[in-house]
Amino acid sequence: MKTGAEYTESLRKLKTQIYFQGKKIDNMVDNPYIRPHINSAAATYDMAFDPEYMELGTATSHLTGKKINRFTHIQQSNDDLVKKVKLLRAIGQRTGTCFQRCVGLDAMNAVYSVSYEIDEKYGSKYHERMCDYMKYVQENDFMVVGGMTDPKGDRGLPPHKQADPDVFVHIVEKREDGIVVRGAKAHQTGAANSHEILVMPTVSMKSEDRDFAVSFAVPMDAPGIVLIFGRQTNDERKLGTLDQGNPTYGVVGGEALVIFNDVFVPWERVFMCGETEFAGMLVERFATYHRQNYGTCKVGVVDVLIGACAAIADYNGAGKASHIKDKLVEMVLLSETMHTSSLAAGYEGHPLPAGNYYPHVTYANITKQNITRNHYEICRIAHDITGGFIATLPTEQDLADPELGPMILKYFKGVASVPTENRIKMGRLIENMTGGTALTESMHGAGSPQAQRVVLLRDANLEQRKKLAQRICGIIPQE
Ligand code: SF4
Ligand code: FE
Repeated sequence: MKTGAEYTESLRKLKTQIYFQGKKIDNMVDNPYIRPHINSAAATYDMAFDPEYMELGTATSHLTGKKINRFTHIQQSNDDLVKKVKLLRAIGQRTGTCFQRCVGLDAMNAVYSVSYEIDEKYGSKYHERMCDYMKYVQENDFMVVGGMTDPKGDRGLPPHKQADPDVFVHIVEKREDGIVVRGAKAHQTGAANSHEILVMPTVSMKSEDRDFAVSFAVPMDAPGIVLIFGRQTNDERKLGTLDQGNPTYGVVGGEALVIFNDVFVPWERVFMCGETEFAGMLVERFATYHRQNYGTCKVGVVDVLIGACAAIADYNGAGKASHIKDKLVEMVLLSETMHTSSLAAGYEGHPLPAGNYYPHVTYANITKQNITRNHYEICRIAHDITGGFIATLPTEQDLADPELGPMILKYFKGVASVPTENRIKMGRLIENMTGGTALTESMHGAGSPQAQRVVLLRDANLEQRKKLAQRICGIIPQE
């Protein structure tokens, strides 16, 4: 297993082609726009060595029997699904933001299970390849990004009917030694600082889409891959410190558009190739694993936010007001409600044909659906408690100015016993955690809200529920 520092150093060896603000980034590790996200991902490595969290942070590989980082583990039990939930909350509490590595963990579990079921039907060798790939990832303790979301072009058309087929990743050539793929994956959390990318389809498909039904893994610096790093709300603040709010770990995950310009993939890294009837299954597997996570990583982050709001109320001199306490209770209620469904999804999970465990689908979708609402409400309450000054604070450059600084400190003072700098720091942290990019990620990460509602309706079993009501009120159900 790697430590956080070893992970960070390992990124220096990658030759990933990353662009930002029209320029190529040659040294991502020391780049101020990317470094906070590296620090946050590094926490997933350090947790495996922290005596307090080691049991959560590590697992035993079912493939090799070796101790591995839990972010490379194939879930073997309900206990594993629950430990994942507890681990993500603990890391969220430590970083106050997204630590990115769960995307690949969930992708590996999804592909592991679906490759087995494709082999059962076709006698192919995808699962064996996936097991070999897992050993490789575990041995090297790699960070893998799960590549699901295609740009999608016209949302009303399937992949093969798009005016430009490249809006879905697809196979452009099949060779004796492998395939060549073209297209892109959008909003890829942690892609810049990952060692590998594991690509999956993004929608259910029919037989005409067979060139688009493809799953494979390649190193992030494979020839032909180009990353365009996304900008975030307030990202120029990364060039300073105080105004960032969370200067070490940043805001959300550092997303990138990952473009595949005719990338070669050897057969041993191909896990689906044309089996369109399994595309929807793979999408749902990944989504369910990932939706369970949102009631835990975000809850860890909200633990920090609730603490920040309680502290700022004290700094403002309002900490003892009953309405503040009531608002903090509301934040706890909303947050723990999300966490309970995430835990329930783990406790009620079940094994898949491949043997790995899978969260309860309805509970995982409810978890994510609640995040798209509760997280916004929690942030609304945070703004209410904090006060308007987070929207009007002067810059850190003004604070550092010998003439302006003392005036800022004088007029932004709260209670006399608290240094004004502390009030500003806490205000900036709350601003960082409650706006712009951070909230949009809660809405659309792991799938937009409507995607969860489709699954909830499908599994709602309304006919069975109608019968329950009919029996109780004495109506004989019509068959
Ligand atoms: Fe992990 Fe949460 Fe970030 Fe998704 S949003 S990658 S689950 S920390
Ligand atoms: Fe996410």
